Amino acid sequence: MGKVIAIANQKGGVGKTTTCVNLAASMAATKRNVLVIDLDPQGNATMASGVDKYQVANTAYELLVDELPVAEVVVSETSGGYDLIAGNGDVTAAEIKLMEFFAREVRLRNALAPVREHYDYIFIDCPPSLNLLTVNAMSAADSVLVPMQCEYFALEGLTALVDTISKLAAVVNPDLKIEGILRTMYDHRNRLSNEVSDQLKSYFGDKVYRTVIPRNVRLAEAPSHGTPAMYYDKSSVGAKSYLALAGEILRRAEDEQSNSEQVEKTA
Ligand code: ADP
Ligand code: MG
Repeated sequence: MGKVIAIANQKGGVGKTTTCVNLAASMAATKRNVLVIDLDPQGNATMASGVDKYQVANTAYELLVDELPVAEVVVSETSGGYDLIAGNGDVTAAEIKLMEFFAREVRLRNALAPVREHYDYIFIDCPPSLNLLTVNAMSAADSVLVPMQCEYFALEGLTALVDTISKLAAVVNPDLKIEGILRTMYDHRNRLSNEVSDQLKSYFGDKVYRTVIPRNVRLAEAPSHGTPAMYYDKSSVGAKSYLALAGEILRRAEDEQSNSEQVEKTA
């Protein structure tokens, strides 16, 4: 059964989209079946996947509002080797339309139910706000991956986000977990970054990924070439970091699996 991971942080510019696209490409490169859903009206994940957001036939709008099945809205030709449900300005309209519906918080969860078997990983790129689209992402997801920059007010924002996730989870998705916290655009030479990083680890422990994404210009350049960094410059530290993150997530999943089998055996 595929795992659905929402990539969320109510702050913009923290590396959500960069993480979504590069992590998805890295997972796809390990022969996993991967779907990316672009729920941000800016459509950055769409463009970064080599898909023209102005030309694409269907988007998350048709999925959420018109209830077209995933098979009809999905784009299978992307530069990252994954499937994509595109996002563009229509997604803003979808958010407004959703308000009219009964059970509007679970539209995405219902839409994905028939294809969860088909994918190993489904990554949802969330908009930089806690709107109804983000709520849909969180109710559809098994877990939330939070990218963050280690800067002064980051922890405050993170605590607010974690608080919101638990409140939301209590209402729409009691099983929702924090998948992990990812330090992005990291600079080891910066004392403040190291301090915030230490606080983060003491607060969130194992939830903080060991893999750190450094600031790397290739990661910033790749989207303008319509591709994840690994197909733009595979030797770049940015591309390698996201491959390492994919490895860490896969290992964690294996550990969880064997732990739960262990528990079953002893029970
Ligand atoms: P969000 O989706 O959270 O708004 P983005 O992933 O779009 O954030 O990142 C914001 C900006 O920072 C983009 O221009 C992106 O290319 C750049 N960026 C993201 N991660 C890195 C990184 N590790 N190194 C350098 N630039 C980065
Ligand atoms: Mg984004």
